[in-house]
Amino acid sequence: MSVRCVRTAREDGEEVRQLLVEADALSGEYEIEVVDGEIYIPLDPAADPRSIDPELEVVERDLPRREAQTFPADILGFEPSYERLGDVVIVAEDDDERAQTIADAILASDVRAETVVNRASPIEGELRVRQWDVLGGDDTETVHREYGCEFELDITEVYFSPRLATERHRVIEQVESGERFFDMFAGVGPFVVPAAKRGAECVGVDLNEAAIEYLRRNAERNGVTDRVTAICGDVRDVTGYDGWADRIVMNLPHRADEFLDTAIELASDDCRLHYYDIQPDSDPFGPGEAAICDAAEPEYAVEIETRHEVRSYAPHELNLCLDARLRRR
Ligand code: SAM
Repeated sequence: MSVRCVRTAREDGEEVRQLLVEADALSGEYEIEVVDGEIYIPLDPAADPRSIDPELEVVERDLPRREAQTFPADILGFEPSYERLGDVVIVAEDDDERAQTIADAILASDVRAETVVNRASPIEGELRVRQWDVLGGDDTETVHREYGCEFELDITEVYFSPRLATERHRVIEQVESGERFFDMFAGVGPFVVPAAKRGAECVGVDLNEAAIEYLRRNAERNGVTDRVTAICGDVRDVTGYDGWADRIVMNLPHRADEFLDTAIELASDDCRLHYYDIQPDSDPFGPGEAAICDAAEPEYAVEIETRHEVRSYAPHELNLCLDARLRRR
């Protein structure tokens, strides 16, 4: 059967296999194959290889199934789609009966899964948390791995999207050691923790007490407590950081424009701003650029360094990021 695999030189095979194991991305369903000095390592269907290492070469290949293992497709007769957050498996099915059938098959199979959930609501409210139907297992707290960091979180209490891994990595790669990094809507720390790992001095703010508790634990888990300050509250009420930030992340699409005045107060004389937005694909970047200029000028000169499409959000709607440089005049 044709499966997605990573192809690499045989001598790099063990290193790449370890990388995939650490990222929960190795499929146990198929054999690893070596052909003509190249090794083919099968990927878990829920894995996003770009979030592990954008340089990995991903190909389709017929690989033999491993013996004595049962997979959801063996039970169901079709390949279900699902994604993974640590050992919580997430299905996205509108039909409750089909969702339950898939969950039962996942739990009865040899796929690693403690809990299976289905989406029960959109992401909602100020805290941006979704409701879930728990279809099997009961522990919704898990540890998710992303680009060498570990994030502990409970999906019923906090926002977290594994689909943004590549985007977060894009931003984190720009972070320099010693810079002052301020995440205005930090969640459990998927920007703050890796930024601190790169040597930045970081502040993360969130309204959600549970998210801040996890952010503190995640700083500890990843060995960066000395460079992370976690603050629970409305970022507009935080004091003591005027003119402080060399880099600001604003990942609250739909409402980020309401917080631009606060971002400008936080900005140092030369500050990078990563502004997330959701807009119609007819003019995705215009509204954000206008809002940033309105808030920053004339005090700052604004240069939009990158106009980046993160992903499609809905038909004709894009999730995007504007990377802006703000220089005090
Ligand atoms: N940055 C995190 C990530 O990428 O996973 C979380 C992003 S989530 C879309 C937005 C976060 O902003 C939520 O955790 C929510 O609780 C927080 N939030 C909403 N309004 C806020 C406010 N006024 N001040 C601080 N945090 C806020």
